[in-house]
Amino acid sequence: MKDATPSAFSLYEKELDYIKKEKLFRAPTTYNPISATTVEKDGRHYLMMASNNYLGLTHHERVKKAAQEAIALYGTGSGGARLVSGSHPLFEALEKDLAHFKGTERAIVYNTGYMANVGTISALVGKGDLVISDELNHASIIDGCRLSGAQRLVYKHKDMKHLEELLREAQNGATSASVRLIVTDSVFSMDGDIAPLDELYGLATKYDALLLVDDAHATGVIGHGHGSAEHFNLRGKIHVQLGTLSKSLGSVGGFVATSDLIGTYLRNKARAYIFSTAISPADVGAAKEALAVIQDEPQLHEKLMVNIAYLKKALHEASIAVETETAIFPIITKDTEKTLAISKALYEKGIILSAIRPPTVPVNESRLRLTVTAAHDEEQLARVVRELRGVL
Ligand SMILES: *Cc1c(COP(=O)(O)O)cnc(C)c1O
Repeated sequence: MKDATPSAFSLYEKELDYIKKEKLFRAPTTYNPISATTVEKDGRHYLMMASNNYLGLTHHERVKKAAQEAIALYGTGSGGARLVSGSHPLFEALEKDLAHFKGTERAIVYNTGYMANVGTISALVGKGDLVISDELNHASIIDGCRLSGAQRLVYKHKDMKHLEELLREAQNGATSASVRLIVTDSVFSMDGDIAPLDELYGLATKYDALLLVDDAHATGVIGHGHGSAEHFNLRGKIHVQLGTLSKSLGSVGGFVATSDLIGTYLRNKARAYIFSTAISPADVGAAKEALAVIQDEPQLHEKLMVNIAYLKKALHEASIAVETETAIFPIITKDTEKTLAISKALYEKGIILSAIRPPTVPVNESRLRLTVTAAHDEEQLARVVRELRGVL
C-alpha cells in the first residue's frame, strides 16, 4: 500500500505560511559563545545584548569548576526523578542555600522555571478555586493557570484597583472559590518594570488569598540581588516565591522558595516535580556555586547597577526613549517589520538585540529588548547606544 500523507501536514504547512507572511517566523541561530558578552559566528564576533545572564555567571571560573566537580562526583545525568533516584547531597545543599538566600523555610528545585510555574500553580489551585493573574504575566504562568482548571481572572497590568474589584467580587460569593491565588511577575520580562509587591501583599492579606511572585528577572538584580521580597522589605513574607536557576544563576532549572507546608505539599502534588527526571549534577553544582559567588562577590551586583545607570543615562542623552526599573530595556518600535529590520541592521553592525514580536507581546507592541549584564563594560555599552542611534 502506498504511504498516505496525513492531512494534518497540509494544515501545518498552511499555518507556517501564515506565520511567515505575518513576519512572525522564528528559528534559533547557532552561535559559539566565547564569553558572557561575546559570541562568534562565521568568524565574526557579536556583542550579546539579549541574554538574561545578568551577572555573567555562565562564564565565571568558580561556577564552571563547580559544574565539572559535580560531574566528577556524581556523573552526567541524574538518572531519575527526585522522588525516585535523582536526589543527591548537592540538591539538598542547593535547596537549603536557596531558602536561606530568599529568607524562607524551604526551597524546592524544579527542572526549569517554566515547569516551576506550571507545576506549582496547577498544584496550588484546581477546579473550584480561583487564580487571578496580571495581564502581562509570563507565558509559563498563563499555562500554569490554564492547566490548573481553576477559574481564571486577569487584572489590568499592575492595576491594584482592578485586582481589588475582582477579589471583592470573589469574596461576595460571585464565585464559590475555596482557594484564591494571586500570581504576578515581580519584574516583567518584556517591560522591565516592577510589580507593586507591597500593595499586592496587602490585598492578599486583606482577602485571604495566596500570593505567588515570579522572580525570574529579579533574582540577582533587585533587592541587592535577593529579589523582589527584599526590594519591598517583605523578606520571608511572600507565600510563594518562584525563581529560575537559568538567568542570574548561570545554570538551568527553576525553584520555589516557600514554607515547609507548601514545600511538602508541592513535592507530593506538583506533577512537573514528580514526573520528570531531575536536572543534571552539573546544573545543580553550577547553580549552587553561582549563589555562593553572588554573596561572596557583591561587586558583581554593584557593577550591574553601574551598567544599568550608565545605559539609562547614555540612552537618554541619545534621545532614545526607554523606561525601565531593572536590567531589561524595552525599546518600543511597534511595527513588527520595522522591529525586525532594526534588529537585522544592528546584527550587521555586530550587535545582538532581540526583536520581540507577537505572541510574546500584544499586536502593535513589538519592540527591541536589550538586556545589560555585569559582564559588559562601558565601551561596549557606548557602542550599543551609538549603533542604536544610527539605526533607529
Ligand atoms: C524565563 C522566565 C521563566 C521560565 O524560566 P526558565 O528557567 O527559562 O524555564 C518563568 N518566568 C519568567 C517571568 C521568565 O522570564
